[in-house]
Amino acid sequence: MARKKHIEQPAEGASEVAAAEEQRERAWQASLRPRTFGEYIGQRELIENLSVSVRAAKQGGWTLDHFLFAGPPGLGKTTLAHVIANELGVQMHTTSGPAIDHKGMLAGLLTGLGEGDVLFIDEIHRLSPVIEENLYPAMEDFKFDIFVGDGPHAKALTMQLPRFTLLGATTRMGLLSSPLLDRFGFHWQLRYYDLDDMIAIVRRSARLIGITVDEAGANEIARRARGTPRIANRLLRRVRDFAAVEGTGRIDGAIAASSLDRLAVDHVGLDALDRAYLSVVCERFDGGPVGIEAVAASLSEERGTLEEVVEPFLLQVGFIARTPRGRVATAAGFGHLGVAAPAKAPTGGQGGPQGRLF
Ligand code: ADP
Repeated sequence: MARKKHIEQPAEGASEVAAAEEQRERAWQASLRPRTFGEYIGQRELIENLSVSVRAAKQGGWTLDHFLFAGPPGLGKTTLAHVIANELGVQMHTTSGPAIDHKGMLAGLLTGLGEGDVLFIDEIHRLSPVIEENLYPAMEDFKFDIFVGDGPHAKALTMQLPRFTLLGATTRMGLLSSPLLDRFGFHWQLRYYDLDDMIAIVRRSARLIGITVDEAGANEIARRARGTPRIANRLLRRVRDFAAVEGTGRIDGAIAASSLDRLAVDHVGLDALDRAYLSVVCERFDGGPVGIEAVAASLSEERGTLEEVVEPFLLQVGFIARTPRGRVATAAGFGHLGVAAPAKAPTGGQGGPQGRLF
């Protein structure tokens, strides 16, 4: 899900500018995408498991099982699907849950697959129930039922599909129905990247685009990128612009820190929306417990964005906690805003944010 600006209304013409920028950003991210397991940084346990499965499938000549990857946006789910298809030497067909809006579309996708191909469905939790049901026989037996004709003369025909691998990605594992979940051979929750991996990602991207970044510069960008490769690449691009205009083009710690300060990304990686969320819980709701709907209404923000993008990171760094009665701010969360915590605020677990994430 794209991170949205909140509260302010777009000015006229701003939507085209934003769309063009989004397009550039997407192309930039795609150009930095690792293509092999060897290039894919971090998530080592997952990569080891996957490379064994891919090698076995290639050696045995069978089709790779269906896999599901879950985790917040930008952690590398789509990249992983590309890497798998590339390592298998097959074609990848990409779609998303909301894009498959009728059965004919699913039929078209499935019948367009070649033997052994990968079908990648992003946001798979957003498939409609009807589409999901039609996907089950395709996943299990590589079969697809169609009806020919209308009314009493309608006939059911079963089409045999090529054997294929379905790779699903979701930011909301909890929204997947259990029949769909059960049909994946394996599912995996991707984790936020640790600092060493983030530094390696910044260095790799800088090398690919031919920018010099010193150790302090790489460290500064990595530390503020919320453990998320997509954000690291985005910040690198912004810092590169500042370094080109205001410096020598080389990224060091000072130019990285000053650029990121100006972009309102703080030293833990929280951006304006993260801080607004935290401030609503800490200040308007006195640390909670508060329901997600109330927070969303206070921020004029979609609940889904908060649940999929903002909260996972705030939970990860220990600034908020979930309780049966709602969200609460922890003492560390209050501390981050520089606000005195009430005695009731939970501590948020061991260590500060850096201790937890990095
Ligand atoms: P998701 O599908 O989880 O939202 P993507 O796979 O689109 O995330 O990742 C966003 C970008 O981050 C990619 O285009 C790629 O440039 C970079 N990226 C993701 N994972 C890695 C990784 N493990 N190593 C290096 N770069 C990565």
